[in-house]
Amino acid sequence: MPDAQQKFKKATSKLINNFDAVVIGAGFAGLFMLYKLRELGLIVRVFEAARELGGTWFWNRYPGARCDVESMEYSYQFSEELQQEWKWTERYASQPEILSYINYVADKFQLRQDIQFNTRVKMASFNEAINRWTIEMVDGQKVNAQFCIMATGCLSAPNLPKFKGLETFEGSLYHTGNWPAEKIDFSGKTIGIIGTGSSAVQSIPLIAQEAKHLFVFQRSPNYVVPARNKPIDPLIEQQIKADYVSFRERNNRKPAAVNIEYNDRSALDVTAEERQLEYEARWEQGGFNFLGAFNDLLINQAANETAAEFVRSKIRQVVQDPAVAEILSPHDVLGCKRLCLGTNYYETYNRPNVTLIDVSGSPIEEIIKNGLRVKGKEYPLDCLVLATGFDAMTGALLKIDIRGKNGTTLKQKWGAGPKSYLGIGINGFPNLFTITGPGSPSVLSNMLPSIEQHVNWIAECIEYMRKHDFISIEPTKEAEEAWVSHVNEVASQTLLTTCNSWYLGANIPGKPRVFMPYIGFPAYVDKCTEVVLNGYKGFVSN
Ligand code: NAP
Repeated sequence: MPDAQQKFKKATSKLINNFDAVVIGAGFAGLFMLYKLRELGLIVRVFEAARELGGTWFWNRYPGARCDVESMEYSYQFSEELQQEWKWTERYASQPEILSYINYVADKFQLRQDIQFNTRVKMASFNEAINRWTIEMVDGQKVNAQFCIMATGCLSAPNLPKFKGLETFEGSLYHTGNWPAEKIDFSGKTIGIIGTGSSAVQSIPLIAQEAKHLFVFQRSPNYVVPARNKPIDPLIEQQIKADYVSFRERNNRKPAAVNIEYNDRSALDVTAEERQLEYEARWEQGGFNFLGAFNDLLINQAANETAAEFVRSKIRQVVQDPAVAEILSPHDVLGCKRLCLGTNYYETYNRPNVTLIDVSGSPIEEIIKNGLRVKGKEYPLDCLVLATGFDAMTGALLKIDIRGKNGTTLKQKWGAGPKSYLGIGINGFPNLFTITGPGSPSVLSNMLPSIEQHVNWIAECIEYMRKHDFISIEPTKEAEEAWVSHVNEVASQTLLTTCNSWYLGANIPGKPRVFMPYIGFPAYVDKCTEVVLNGYKGFVSN
């Protein structure tokens, strides 16, 4: 063992609850990080607030919860044996099936024994004298580790808007991002749902089937394309499994690491008839393929408007009441907010037991003990469902009191928006890694390959440190500043900065407006590789 490592081991050997690495979160990211670090021979402990595995997929159990990336792609690729033996049943996996998969992976690789459940982390502080992190739990437990790895997820801190009177509501209150494990029976009840994002789009049709009446309170409409979920075609499964590695490699070179077929023509270079045919074909196919209909939908406003108008025409065709169809029709850039995939979403508004309430011009005034009031009118409700989304990307990180060098808190450092190098490392916070942190493709990519790429990168970095006898690593301020500018520059070349999306933090009052994810998975991976090939360029190691 090299000298510095030995001295470091000696200095820290008397610390109790001592680990090489602590991983916070036991979703897809935390689980694979544990697997990789164990492979390197590190002593690792994972802390998870929930009582079970799954992260996002543990908490989001609302009716209809299902992934919007196809199941053959939304899965780990690190083990050929695993990807061959696991059998998905549907084109898009449901939340229970994803949970079964995560549990299967944990059992197969015996990962559970290093995970401590029911443990919420309160604080993580860096001790410069010994180059270690102290991690403190809500229950007072404290542990030490050389590396602290945040696998806290991008969409895991629910957004609970401060509605006046919320605490006075006497009916049942639910948030889609923190849904109870037991089945909720909505039959015979009057339900209100606030929000019309992906979670609401999935749950509204199912709640409507059960409820006596469903009131949907919509602040902004979203574009919803059909998911066209169906059982997995055994032939397609067979073809993919015959050469899964090439399938993954091909997808990983696509802009979002998702198997979208991109047309190489502009929407404005074809005739109206050709455009219509292309949109129709993709509408029939279902899924995110719609976004690949033309190559300029997310960079040219006029091109985008042709796709937007196509979806609005579909809404008008499906929704019988023209006034309701108009309220459901978005007029912002299609794809600026995440495109929603739905099943019978617009059709649901033809049901006599569903009423759409437009709250765009006048916000919800107050939640009252038996319902809510908007525009002076009271809506009596038995249950209220908040489908109000998340404090995305930074929320879960900032919920933990993270303190780096000189006691600087991450909250202070990110006061004007998140700053990170590659979305992995933060200047002033040595040996702290963020998996799919702000500044990385994360939510604008297929999360599974993004997670695997980050975990592999972090594991390789730790291996490099050990090999070179380094005990700490952190990005330079200059590298971080340059990366944040680059992330913004890339985003500004697209239409994705033109609306009030959660990518910009615009859904949370007071949150700094900074475009958080990096657009373009392949370019990002190349950049990460280049950093490594250049001796971890932009990082300083000691
Ligand atoms: P979301 O997209 O942020 O939607 C939240 C909804 O709540 C929006 O309609 C928002 O309106 C509304 N809202 C928030 N505060 C409000 C207020 N004070 N008054 C009235 N309305 C309010 O959240 P989400 O639906 O949970 O989805 C978040 C992300 O999670 C998705 O974009 C997706 O990336 C992921 N997700 C994926 C899946 C899937 O894989 N299929 C499913 C669910 C979620 P405004 O638009 O006006 O802000």
